[in-house]
Amino acid sequence: MNHFEVRGGELHCEDVPLSRIAAEVGTPVYVYSSATLERHYTVFRDALVEAGLVDPLVAYAVKANSNVSVLKVLGNLGAGADTVSEGEIRRALAAGIPPERIVFSGVGKTAREIEFALTVGVSEINVESEPEMKLIAQVAERLALRAPIVFRVNPDVEAGGHAKIATGKAENKFGVSFAEAARLYANASNHPHLNPLGVACHIGSQITDMAPFEAAFRKMRGLVESLRAEGLSVERLDLGGGLGVPYFNQPDPPSPQAYATMVGEVVKGMDDIRFAFEPGRVIAANAGVLLASVIHLHERPEGRKFLVLDAAMNDLIRPAMYEAFHDIRPVQATDAVPVALDVVGPVCETGDTFTRERLLPLLGPGEVVAFMSAGAYGAAMASEYNSRPLVPEVLVSGDRYAVIRRRPTYEEMLADETPAEWL
Ligand SMILES: *Cc1c(COP(=O)(O)O)cnc(C)c1O
Repeated sequence: MNHFEVRGGELHCEDVPLSRIAAEVGTPVYVYSSATLERHYTVFRDALVEAGLVDPLVAYAVKANSNVSVLKVLGNLGAGADTVSEGEIRRALAAGIPPERIVFSGVGKTAREIEFALTVGVSEINVESEPEMKLIAQVAERLALRAPIVFRVNPDVEAGGHAKIATGKAENKFGVSFAEAARLYANASNHPHLNPLGVACHIGSQITDMAPFEAAFRKMRGLVESLRAEGLSVERLDLGGGLGVPYFNQPDPPSPQAYATMVGEVVKGMDDIRFAFEPGRVIAANAGVLLASVIHLHERPEGRKFLVLDAAMNDLIRPAMYEAFHDIRPVQATDAVPVALDVVGPVCETGDTFTRERLLPLLGPGEVVAFMSAGAYGAAMASEYNSRPLVPEVLVSGDRYAVIRRRPTYEEMLADETPAEWL
């Protein structure tokens, strides 16, 4: 459920008409609903608690939507943060999320990033490989402390809405194998500067089928039991993120309740484990839209009709990168007859096509559309490609809204460039 609804012929975000934000802030612009973010977090966490997990850490995956205000909305409810870079750790801290609730993941952490994470005292560093474990040990030795680590294991299951977002197969770059995990865990346990706390997995994104989750989680339970059988101490189990969302016209994912019930069954009896989860998309995707204005309609003599918008692939790359589907809705009710349109942006790439032959009302210049379900992997993946200023972001709460990241000026866009002195 989300708080984007049509009232009186106008698409609203909570109590604010989206046409008002488009007029006052300009387009393209991302708009997020606080109430939806809060609802999604609360539903996810409450479902886990109801399924019998004691005080699970729900570490929101910052990369899905890393705006500090979004992090604050979630952090205020008790959410932790799953981070993959120093920048994301800094964002989580800036949002007031305490280090005890921050998890540091990612396949290529630099020595500098590891030092930063250990210095601020993150809750755990999720180790993705043996060389990384050695690097963490070196940095921890230099800092004279014991690094809290969790091994990210690759459970070798097939999952994820698209090959580019499947991460849990042995052929992917993520995590160590089960055999390696056992050996590395034992090594780390004897290391003066490493403190192995548990194991983690994350098998992919936009997963709409429960079977791969269940298969992976059963394997993780088996791993915890076999590590303990070897006398190793295991206190944490991080089951990652990846739960899909109901994008328009796509297979319905399991509900958070169904997911949590399955988790509860798989981990039944593991009462001395602290569980962590890293949901991103399921929290943020349906809490945001991207607003864009029509520039014009280009009708080809052969019959194709291109609706050219002022938003482009640099603002929302999911269709170009993952063939992702976004529902596109006019923000004001229209009587225009639906026709098959190719919806494109102004960027000089054929890939700058949001959709082809979609039945949409024929809108005129200046009319505003909303790309639905754009709150995750939208603004966070935006760029300035084609020297288009970075898309701004707005947060709505009830009948108020705030610009939480403003559109940079062209002067700012150019400010960091220093022409070489010999030119
Ligand atoms: C991307 C990522 C997540 C979040 O995935 P979603 O599909 O957005 O839930 C969680 N954990 C790790 C390690 C990730 O890389």
